[in-house]
Amino acid sequence: MKPNPISPTIPLDQDGIHHGFLRLPYSRDDSAWGSIMIPLTVIRNGDGPTALLTGGNHGDEYEGPVALQELAITLKPEDITGRAIIVPAFNYPAYRAGSRTSPIDKGNMNRAFPGRPDGGPTEKIADYFQRVLLPMADIAVDFHSGGKTLDFVPFAATHILDDKAVEAACFAAMVAFNAPYSVQLLEIDNVGMYDTAVEEMGKVLVSTELGGGGSATAKSIAIAKKGLRNVLIHAGILQGEMQVDPTTRLRMPDGDCFVFSENDGLFEPMFDLGEPVNKGDVVARIWPLDRTGVDPVDLEAKLSGILISRHFPGLIKSGDCAAVIGLQVI
Ligand SMILES: [Zn+2]
Repeated sequence: MKPNPISPTIPLDQDGIHHGFLRLPYSRDDSAWGSIMIPLTVIRNGDGPTALLTGGNHGDEYEGPVALQELAITLKPEDITGRAIIVPAFNYPAYRAGSRTSPIDKGNMNRAFPGRPDGGPTEKIADYFQRVLLPMADIAVDFHSGGKTLDFVPFAATHILDDKAVEAACFAAMVAFNAPYSVQLLEIDNVGMYDTAVEEMGKVLVSTELGGGGSATAKSIAIAKKGLRNVLIHAGILQGEMQVDPTTRLRMPDGDCFVFSENDGLFEPMFDLGEPVNKGDVVARIWPLDRTGVDPVDLEAKLSGILISRHFPGLIKSGDCAAVIGLQVI
């Protein structure tokens, strides 16, 4: 396979703290020999485990980028054993555009794996992670939230996997992250996901959904910072005591967890995030946009649980996810 065109501007394997970039050559109208400069910090102190820490996999999700920016200026080499590779804006073009996918090639990073060295910028970044950075890692944390179109109760997530040893290691790291909610997901369509790439390599992955709406809150950012620190301690990289608070375990058994809209319209949520919902409850109503005097369309929950995600914008389209119900694990 062709070599990947990305080159780091700093060493990845030297002790100390180095701030630089992953430089991806990108020739274009406004810069003939230009590059995409993806911010990168590597902090290392001797041999030990490596954590690969990413935010901005989707460019409109902000808890990860904020927590990782802070980590890059606060984590000291003398406080760790091993290495932290910090990439706050995984899909950097998307992050700069404030959009989920890349404005250059419309690439969705979490559907682009394993990537290609000769594809668009998103595929090239994916290929670099697949073939260069992930093989160096023992544990990966990939921060997500709902972006502009969804909002979530704050949870850390792992997957149900065929490899039960990897599944158990991922589960333990999710517990260490200690978000207010913890979810073990059976991914319906995992092809192309970064998560799948990490797990298939036998590495430990924790991902998150910490909020949404295209912004972040003081609370959701605090959850990201605490989780990051806890996972670094869990991995044996950082010394210290984990901060452990109560967490609610959730599961999502099947597609009945999801409520989709079959209409365009004005979105009326009938429950707020974290509230209990019973099977048959109207979780949202969709009002017509173009007239008065017509009843709304009711969207009902297909099972009883907790509202863990909702459509965020005030208007909704046919096919949009309106609500997600999670079931509490007792
Ligand atoms: Zn995301």
